[in-house]
Amino acid sequence: MVMLNTKNLGFRIQLTLSIFVLLTALPIGMMWYSSSEQILQNSVQQLFRQSNQVITSHLDDFFDEAHLVYQHQITEQQLLPKVVNQRDDLLKYLANVLAHHDDIDYFYFASAEGHLLSLGRDEFGNFVRIESDSNKAGSTTSYSTDSKGDGIEVINTNAHFDPRTRQWFQRALKSKEPVWSDIYPGAIENVLGVSLAKAQYDENGNFLGVWGLDLTLSTLEHELQKNVLSPNSRILLISDHGTIVASSDKSFPALMELDTPLTPVVNIIWDNISNTQPSDTMAVTQYPILGGNWMTAHTKYQLGSNRYLTILFISPICDFIGEFISTKYYAVLFTLMLMVAAMYFGSQGTRYILIPINQLQATVKRITLGKWNARTQLDREDELGDLSRSFDHMAEHLQVTICQLKEEQKETTRLNNLLAYNNQELERKVSERTAELENANSKLQQLANFDPLTQVANRRHFWQLFEQKNQQSPGWLLVLDIDNFKSINDAHGHLIGDRVLQQFCSVCQSCLGPDALFGRIGGEEFALYITVADAPNIKEYAEKLLRCVRNTPLTIDDINISFTVSIGVAQTSPENKNVYAEADKMLFKAKASGKDCVSFLV
Ligand code: GH3
Ligand code: MG
Ligand code: MG
Repeated sequence: MVMLNTKNLGFRIQLTLSIFVLLTALPIGMMWYSSSEQILQNSVQQLFRQSNQVITSHLDDFFDEAHLVYQHQITEQQLLPKVVNQRDDLLKYLANVLAHHDDIDYFYFASAEGHLLSLGRDEFGNFVRIESDSNKAGSTTSYSTDSKGDGIEVINTNAHFDPRTRQWFQRALKSKEPVWSDIYPGAIENVLGVSLAKAQYDENGNFLGVWGLDLTLSTLEHELQKNVLSPNSRILLISDHGTIVASSDKSFPALMELDTPLTPVVNIIWDNISNTQPSDTMAVTQYPILGGNWMTAHTKYQLGSNRYLTILFISPICDFIGEFISTKYYAVLFTLMLMVAAMYFGSQGTRYILIPINQLQATVKRITLGKWNARTQLDREDELGDLSRSFDHMAEHLQVTICQLKEEQKETTRLNNLLAYNNQELERKVSERTAELENANSKLQQLANFDPLTQVANRRHFWQLFEQKNQQSPGWLLVLDIDNFKSINDAHGHLIGDRVLQQFCSVCQSCLGPDALFGRIGGEEFALYITVADAPNIKEYAEKLLRCVRNTPLTIDDINISFTVSIGVAQTSPENKNVYAEADKMLFKAKASGKDCVSFLV
């Protein structure tokens, strides 16, 4: 998944939020979208119901008023036979009823002989009296009158009118109760009416005539027009026989029969609903008719036993489609707005979360680079604020610890340097002491092994070295004694005698090879050891030595002090333990031979 493949936390949060909103907003939007049709159906049904209530209420008022007149007559049963026999009393009675019942248009009485006396209002509200010219059926005259029916101005005449031939008259004769007539054009032209008629008898049961109340339906049509739901909606009142009684639409005039080609929509609907039983419920039904969809609903209004008026509502769906579509658009818009809002607030939320995290990360980087005083300083009261404060506290502690460590490191370096310096100093002093010691040792060695006056090996050291060398190779031991040294001492003093000794050693060493072992045996007596290899001809070697000594006097203050030496020689070997004695013996022999010579023991 994309979410798992990216390391961008902000993107992951945003994506999660978007998917969450998509999963929540989409179903809501879809439910809204899909329920919009149901909403439309319910809304229209609700509107139909409200409209139906208004119309039914108006019809109730309309017909109740007529019934009220006859209910009131029951209390006047004793009086009425007299009233109908007195023309003026009857007119006064008619005028009184009209004055109290605005919805009644005409109130009249037709006698058993066919005489008619009628008082009412035309469509303009002017009072009209219609009266038979004689006291039986025949010609009638219409008069313009006042509200009491008084007036002689003729409006119209009718050559013959016999109310007894009328439907309302005949229906009334068959019932003791008031009965409704069919809808018919009323006394006034072009005005549709309906009559509630009731027969009048005297106390002996003799028939006196028929009362009639005319109600015009024009006011009903105004009511229907006010209650249409949409521009192309229609409300129709239809009689049991399929005759339009009242219509909100002028193109469906009253009394039009539904089977005419003018009303195909109503005709089809009527065919479907005319057989249904009257019901209190009002269901909305859809009909696809003439390429359009129509929503219809109807109720039946009871006029009398088994007589009904059907109230039919029809509306083309296209009238509501704008609202319907806008409802859908609202659903889509709502979904989109939810998503945009979620994305906006999601990105804000993500920034709100990520900014402090990035700040923390940047601070960590700076600290990693050694900027120990770096801090986040995030001024927030939430968990990230707590984290930031904890981090800053930790960084503070870290900085203090690092500073302490640096100080300690500096001190350690200083101490190490001091230690190194001290070590160097110690080493130097040890070296100095060692050198001094070596020097002292050397001096001691010198003092122990060498003669302090002549700087040649002393007796002990010479014999020590001689023992070592004599073991390795054969050689010659020469014993040398300065001739007449006592005389030199005596003649020049011991200091000069010392200088002669030094001169003698210096001469010998310059004549001898580097490997010769030379030492002072005692007094003015010296010993010399050389190997055979260094002195293959010992005689020449010894004589050369004699010459060197003889020819190198000590010169002091331009005075040459000459001296000579006598030499005794013996051959050495590791086994020979008496070689010194032998050489000394030869020295004695050389002394005895006149000094300044060499004597060999061969
Ligand atoms: P000869 O020729 O027979 O060897 O006679 P000599 O005089 O050399 O021998 P003698 O043994 O009679 O004398 C040696 C003298 O050397 C005696 C002593 O005073 C002197 N002498 C010994 N050691 C030293 C010394 O270190 N310094 C000085 N100045 N004289 C010394
Ligand atoms: Mg001597
Ligand atoms: Mg001597």
